[in-house]
Amino acid sequence: MPHSLVRRTAALVALAVLPLAAQAPRHVILVTLDGVRTQEFFGGLDTLVLNGTERQHNVGDTAAVRRRWWRPTPEERRRLLMPFFWDSLAPQGLVLGNVARGNRVLIQNRMRFSAPGYLEMFTGRAQPDVTSNDQKRYGHVTVLEHARRALGLPREQVALFGSWENFRWYAASDSTAVVVNAGSQPMAPALETPRTRELARLERRAQPIWHEARLDVFTGAMALDYLRTRHPRLLVVNFDDTDDLAHLRRYEPLLVALGGLDDFLHELWTTVQADPRLRGRTTLIITTDHGRGRTPEDWSNHGEDVEGAQEIWMAVIGPGTAAVGEPRGVTGVRQAAVAGTILQCLGLDPAGLAGAAPPVPGACRGAR
Ligand SMILES: [Zn+2]
Repeated sequence: MPHSLVRRTAALVALAVLPLAAQAPRHVILVTLDGVRTQEFFGGLDTLVLNGTERQHNVGDTAAVRRRWWRPTPEERRRLLMPFFWDSLAPQGLVLGNVARGNRVLIQNRMRFSAPGYLEMFTGRAQPDVTSNDQKRYGHVTVLEHARRALGLPREQVALFGSWENFRWYAASDSTAVVVNAGSQPMAPALETPRTRELARLERRAQPIWHEARLDVFTGAMALDYLRTRHPRLLVVNFDDTDDLAHLRRYEPLLVALGGLDDFLHELWTTVQADPRLRGRTTLIITTDHGRGRTPEDWSNHGEDVEGAQEIWMAVIGPGTAAVGEPRGVTGVRQAAVAGTILQCLGLDPAGLAGAAPPVPGACRGAR
């Protein structure tokens, strides 16, 4: 056998025994819906809240809200809020956090508000020095920068799109490590497309709910454009409208907003399945940074003293995810598991990120 042929044959044999992850690059998309309670996520319209909210005059027509969103069972009610998630995504993945099924997903940090929650999921553990929502960069290495380094990727292959401008500080310990577009911020000139220019133009005509956040509709559209044009290995999309609407006790718009996010998930998953570079090798993780109170008084609020705000939910859908929908009696999963789950689904060693909690069991079998 000529020498070159020996080499080529050896290369072919090596290719045949490579693990799947090395042959087909794996992709992960993390989507967060800020401050969405387990009550609405698993049970749809909560009449405790609706009745309490009536007194606040923040529901236009209570009878109409009931007609549209009230059904006898929680399964029917949640399906009305997020039909694509419950009909199409949930059955092919793993959905955790439903107390009615004996499941619990808790945040590990004691703060029960946004920055500690996002830092916990990004770094794989509660970070006791994150005690405010200040616009401050922390020294902790995040899963975004770790994944880029471990996979040897160009910067553009790890990107975060956030509605809340604070993600510019929270995405990484080094401001240049990954692509971040958060708050009311146009795309960096080097990454602009005709679509992002059009979205920036439209956003100037829109009224934000809160001055620190861009409306979710723009964040989602920019993230989808980025996914279609650049196929990042890790894409993080952080939405915000739901938290702002809840703080304002605007319950009806909050329910409508969940439908909008479900529509985004539909477009996102359809985009993934239609793209040969993403189909069959993309894991979608969906979760929230914190819960909220349980009563008609404190459902709108969250924080250290608000009981219930420590309860969150988490969903994983992708190749190698146990397609069990909602299992029963899963109580050990914490928010910190997000980072390790991302790494495992990317085909990386979850222990490579120092101190990170282990991945969600059953989330990504066979990825390594
Ligand atoms: Zn909040």
